[in-house]
Amino acid sequence: MAKIVLKKGREESLLRRHPWVFSGAIAGVEDEPVRGATVEIRANDGRTLGRAAWSPHSQISARVWTFDPDEQIDAEFFRRRLARAFSARRPSQDDWGDDCGRLVYAEADGLPGVIVDRYAGFVVCQFLSAGAEFWRETICGLIAELVPGVSIYERSDADSREKEGLEPRTGVLIGSEPPELLEVSDGRFGFLVDIARGHKTGFYLDQRDNRAAAAELIGSLPRPGDVLDCFSYTGSFTVAALAGGASWVTAVESSPTAIETARRNVALNGLDLSRVQFEEGNVFAFLRSCRDAGRVFDAVILDPPKFAGSRGMVEAAGRGYKDINLLAMKLLAPGGLLITFSCSQHIGAELFERILAFAAMDAGRDVQIVRHLRQAGDHPVALNFPESAYLKGAACRVW
Ligand code: SAH
Repeated sequence: MAKIVLKKGREESLLRRHPWVFSGAIAGVEDEPVRGATVEIRANDGRTLGRAAWSPHSQISARVWTFDPDEQIDAEFFRRRLARAFSARRPSQDDWGDDCGRLVYAEADGLPGVIVDRYAGFVVCQFLSAGAEFWRETICGLIAELVPGVSIYERSDADSREKEGLEPRTGVLIGSEPPELLEVSDGRFGFLVDIARGHKTGFYLDQRDNRAAAAELIGSLPRPGDVLDCFSYTGSFTVAALAGGASWVTAVESSPTAIETARRNVALNGLDLSRVQFEEGNVFAFLRSCRDAGRVFDAVILDPPKFAGSRGMVEAAGRGYKDINLLAMKLLAPGGLLITFSCSQHIGAELFERILAFAAMDAGRDVQIVRHLRQAGDHPVALNFPESAYLKGAACRVW
């Protein structure tokens, strides 16, 4: 097996079981490993620290599969890791109570670069690192064994593949072509999902608990609310708001295709489409036009795309988050609800709350967090890999 030897003192993070080896930490590479191959990681004093996948094109040169220096990286290793991830999510008696959710969340499940989501009779995979790509067929075969009868679709088209020197790739791996829109239930609401072209693997599975929270909190407003759902995509929060008892929802989204699916999702849940106004446009401009027109809402939901794609973008992203939150606070009736999120991994929960505090100050409103919101439990946060915590939000009462 090829070896990589770290610079003196650069084994610290690995001893804390953080799975990434950055290129700057490497003193030397022995035996020229091919992309994705398993390499042994050695500290400068010769201690073996674990086994990792070699990624020559990335700043993250190696991602650790195991910290056990004797564990073989082979099909059995992947069977164990997949089985562990699946078993942690499978309820007793195989009654999932839904038909969509995350099965494998990459580093947080000890499988760097591997994402596996389930949607009714389909499993959607992303292979986002050189190591994941190297073991792609093995992993795919194991999923087919562990989830008999399932069709497997690949969505390896996330931007992060480029950093690993990998081309995007999508398509059927096993079984049948997915329908244009697949109907799934998150246990509470039904949604139509485009697993071939939709965002991520088709849908925002990570917002499941927060949809339920939004329905409950909107339902507890003193009067049936007028709700503004910003960045509504296929309307998951619009559905939750209506189900919670909103009397009127304005949904703002830039993609007409997403809006079309959102309409169908409202109808699919037996909710009243005549209570929804879909606005195709830019949220930033829409919020300003509402402010200028003196519009008032009982609840505003802000679920924007990732504003900070890298550490260097944190400052600009912070301004973006502050801007929309400040505007939203101004639009709320006294006692109204702001349900606001950031999915930027580089904006931590503390920083996000500080941004909200500045927005409240500039809006001249008293704002209380009444509930902290996080990614759903099937997207676990590994304590040795804090980067796995990315989605944070807050339900706020705005006075
Ligand atoms: N709330 C959604 C997910 C939102 S993802 C859900 O629960 O499913 C972010 C969405 O914002 C995407 O659909 C994207 O098309 C849209 N978007 C991005 N920038 C926008 C902008 N400036 N104005 C309006 N929509 C925008």
